[in-house]
Amino acid sequence: MEHIDLLGMRAYHPAGETNSHIAFQKVLMMVESTHDEMERRLYSHDLAPLPKEMDVIFKTMPDEVKRPKDTQEIIQEVRRAISLNRPIIPRGAGSWGLGGSVPVKGGITFDMTAMNKIIEIDVKNLTVIAQPGVTWKALAEALDAKGLFLPCYPSSAPSATLGGWINTGGTGIGAYKYGSAMDLIRDMEVVLPDTAVVHTGDKYVPQNGGGPNLNWLFVGSEGTMGVVTEVTFAVLPKPEELRAVSYSFDDLRKFQPALQRMVRSGVTPMHIMFGDRLHFDYLRAVGKHAPDVGCMITMALTGPKTSVDVEEKAIDEIMLAAGAKKEPSETAQHEWSERNYEFRVRELGVGAIPGEVLIPIDKMNVVLDGTAKIIKQLKMNAPLIGTVADQNTVMLMPYYLTDEHKLVASTAAMGFAKRLGDLAFENGGRPVGLGVFFAGNLAKYRGKEGAKLIRKIKDMIDPNGIMNPGHMVETGTRYGISLPGWMMNFGMHMMGSMKRVLPRDRIGEKELAKLKK
Ligand SMILES: Cc1cc2nc3c(=O)[nH]c(=O)nc-3n(C[C@H](O)[C@H](O)[C@H](O)COP(=O)(O)OP(=O)(O)OC[C@H]3O[C@@H](n4cnc5c(N)ncnc54)[C@H](O)[C@@H]3O)c2cc1C
Repeated sequence: MEHIDLLGMRAYHPAGETNSHIAFQKVLMMVESTHDEMERRLYSHDLAPLPKEMDVIFKTMPDEVKRPKDTQEIIQEVRRAISLNRPIIPRGAGSWGLGGSVPVKGGITFDMTAMNKIIEIDVKNLTVIAQPGVTWKALAEALDAKGLFLPCYPSSAPSATLGGWINTGGTGIGAYKYGSAMDLIRDMEVVLPDTAVVHTGDKYVPQNGGGPNLNWLFVGSEGTMGVVTEVTFAVLPKPEELRAVSYSFDDLRKFQPALQRMVRSGVTPMHIMFGDRLHFDYLRAVGKHAPDVGCMITMALTGPKTSVDVEEKAIDEIMLAAGAKKEPSETAQHEWSERNYEFRVRELGVGAIPGEVLIPIDKMNVVLDGTAKIIKQLKMNAPLIGTVADQNTVMLMPYYLTDEHKLVASTAAMGFAKRLGDLAFENGGRPVGLGVFFAGNLAKYRGKEGAKLIRKIKDMIDPNGIMNPGHMVETGTRYGISLPGWMMNFGMHMMGSMKRVLPRDRIGEKELAKLKK
């Protein structure tokens, strides 16, 4: 049963998963638009809580919510928004945790989940065209039924929409072998802030001369450049074999040298994911089936059976030489089947979005040590999961357990995301995404001149500043003025300092102690 917590405006899925609004959005899908305050409140945050106190700075509640059914309706609504000088906030499932689809000065939220049709699956040419509100899981299942394979998708696939993940420029399951969202996309239809409709690429042809295609302009633009209304992806035939293998270590840091060897070995798993001991302990503490073997690394291998056999043997050799123990194939299969349900621990009735950073592989252990130090300083309980994004990069996602209803403590925990981000920058990496919390840091991501160029492009495409204002290029406020990046950073740093003096988080400790008895 879905548990809907009306008071806290949260809806938890049976898996303790993901986003706060899906259950409501499903109900509200019946309605094409709403001005109702209660309903609009549901769109005033995404997966992560934004405390009410923030209303002093941001007007997070949209003035209206629209659920457009097609491109024509979006064009009409954009025209209306221009005439009213109201912001437009494109929104998928609201499963991101950085506030990308949360208004900063009200406006019209476009809930894109009603545009959920798969328009065409071209089996002969291996392409698929779909609307942006389709979930990644629905797309993968539709392709599977035709003998095709979606090479890459986010682990939030059951709820995350095509448009949402594309706009966060995400990396995900399958990225290690097949590339990420950007590499999948052939073409997009986008409604621009002046109502023009553009196609960004070509249905069959990848970027290859003829001037640059425009996919790059919208992937990762966090809803600030236009509304994605249709996407064409290149897909693959289903591999003969998809096999999961798991290995455990007593200490996650032993994985790094093995990973560096594997990258050089030419063996290319589709996906590599890992969790630390605390992650699996917590899962068992909430009654989930999870192995009691310490830290675990699970990889998925794809291809013809014979080549998968060869790859498995090569990986066995590398991992066992590094001191790993190979886990039984049932454990590996179970871990693979759980790949979309990483945050089941949220069932403790608490939780917030993880800090999420990308770092070079050779800095993995330095950042693991630094992360453990921050967790200790801020008196938090934070299990850690992660993936290997590509041959150069690891994504670390420590997620903190905190009580969303204790606003001071949970807001203060945002200081954790800031400190983790700084640690990543110090080590040649960076946080994943800007959203509301990291907007203003664009120059840190792209360099001063790069950030200026992105700002110029944004101003040219959106001269009225109506497309998701206050995001990506600036931290906007309800008063129309932007907060300088340093001020937002300082505020987040102070939240961390406040967290240091607050009592220790105790969430989950009782359950954990019971488990250990
Ligand atoms: C359990 C869990 C697992 C996750 N795993 C991954 C992972 O493996 N990899 C990863 O990269 N991320 C992951 N994430 C975060 C991830 O970014 C989101 O889950 C997902 O990509 C966002 O999709 P959404 O539909 O919820 O978008 P939203 O949160 O609604 O929106 C995200 C951004 O996209 C914009 N947007 C949405 N739709 C459109 C549109 N049609 N046109 C223009 N802009 C639009 C919004 O304005 C916003 O800026 C995970 C999150 C959770 C909770």
